[in-house]
Amino acid sequence: MTTPQGLLVVIAGPSGVGKGTVHERVRAALPGSVLSVSVTTRAPRPGEVDGVDYHFVDAARFQELIEQRQLLEWADYAGQRYGTPRAPVEEAVGGGRIVVLDIELQGALQVKDHDPAALLVFLVPPSFAELERRLRTRGTESEAALQRRLARAREELSAAHRFDVVVVNDDLDRCVEEVLGAIERARTVAGGPTVRAGEPPSARG
Ligand code: 5GP
Repeated sequence: MTTPQGLLVVIAGPSGVGKGTVHERVRAALPGSVLSVSVTTRAPRPGEVDGVDYHFVDAARFQELIEQRQLLEWADYAGQRYGTPRAPVEEAVGGGRIVVLDIELQGALQVKDHDPAALLVFLVPPSFAELERRLRTRGTESEAALQRRLARAREELSAAHRFDVVVVNDDLDRCVEEVLGAIERARTVAGGPTVRAGEPPSARG
């Protein structure tokens, strides 16, 4: 028998891949899971609420958070800064919860360095053309910002192999099922025996 353990799950993928919806569905399927609220220097979009969608801060405050080592990871993205507050994540994972992060590539790789047991899931679009179409339809960005996001998306897609699991987001239900399956497997492994075969239990650190 295995005991469920806390687990850090990163669900990343290029802007426009549909991460937000996948995040919502995954969290709805995992009662007690927590979505980390990031800090960003970007301005709120219409409808975004401070403390819910992001903690919106200015560049000076963000720099302070870096210097005080209050961020688990952080990255520059399309001219703005984004970071994950360290304390709430460590508390929740330590308390046995699943904590889900919606972050970009550089941050995801930093998380894995910090916590090798973290599960990195990368969502990819069915095609690059489809990604561009989704971003344009969303219409939240200026043309220049959209171009920066598309350039960054190309970069991110080429690093997909550095993730534990790559899931194509063409059919939402199937995509969510695959992500949930990967979380379930990672959780079982994390909660299972840490003793290697042939190693006496007394050797556990
Ligand atoms: P957006 O401006 O569209 O909300 O987010 C832009 C990108 O920043 C997305 O890929 C999003 O996943 C990523 N992001 C959001 N929060 C964080 C964070 O705390 N750290 C990192 N590294 N990326 C983040």
